[in-house]
Amino acid sequence: MIKDNLSAILSSIPSEVTLVAVSKTKAVDRIKEAYESGQLDFGENKVQEMVEKAALLPKNIRWHMIGHLQRNKVKDIIEFIHLIHSVDSLRLLDQINKESIKKKLKTDILIQVKISKDVSKYGFLTNELDNVFKNYLSNKYRNVNILGLMGMATFTDNISQIESEFSLLSSLYNKYSKMTNLKYLSMGMSGDYLLALKYNSNMIRLGSAIFN
Ligand SMILES: *Cc1c(COP(=O)(O)O)cnc(C)c1O
Repeated sequence: MIKDNLSAILSSIPSEVTLVAVSKTKAVDRIKEAYESGQLDFGENKVQEMVEKAALLPKNIRWHMIGHLQRNKVKDIIEFIHLIHSVDSLRLLDQINKESIKKKLKTDILIQVKISKDVSKYGFLTNELDNVFKNYLSNKYRNVNILGLMGMATFTDNISQIESEFSLLSSLYNKYSKMTNLKYLSMGMSGDYLLALKYNSNMIRLGSAIFN
């Protein structure tokens, strides 16, 4: 049962950690079931799917975009999105800023960092982050708030590899926290969230552990 999964997870994590229920590919009825047991944060990785579900579900759900976002789709979510975790290029950051200005909004985002060796994973390289924060601190993106970093570990059962990737992201979070006020370190999925918490994650994104 979704309700039992949620309560087991919530009782095993510190109360200051935000649990994002990753509902991609899950039917609206099952999301409603999670919502009715008190879950308000949901993550999707496709714009179309998120927009369709958001229209059918309660308005107080906090929607998190966790997948690669195309610039031409920013306008479709800008008015209701709670947090965009997957900002992986300056052009996307610029587009989110422009759409936010148009709609007179301030949009909360995370910077996605490529910590994984998987070729398929998106994100800024670690050596590009200085430039991202330099631009941000020079007020280039006035209608965007960078609230933290997001990353995904390599898909592997090599624990020490995953730990070294989480450790890297955690140290980057500490580094940039000294320059601007960051709030969220989004790392950890169903298979590795306990490890992520060990490295100071405070936002975990779980799909299968909740819905399967
Ligand atoms: C699918 C997905 C998750 C959740 O994965 P599970 O292994 O089902 O917990 C977390 N983060 C991102 C970015 C995802 O795409």
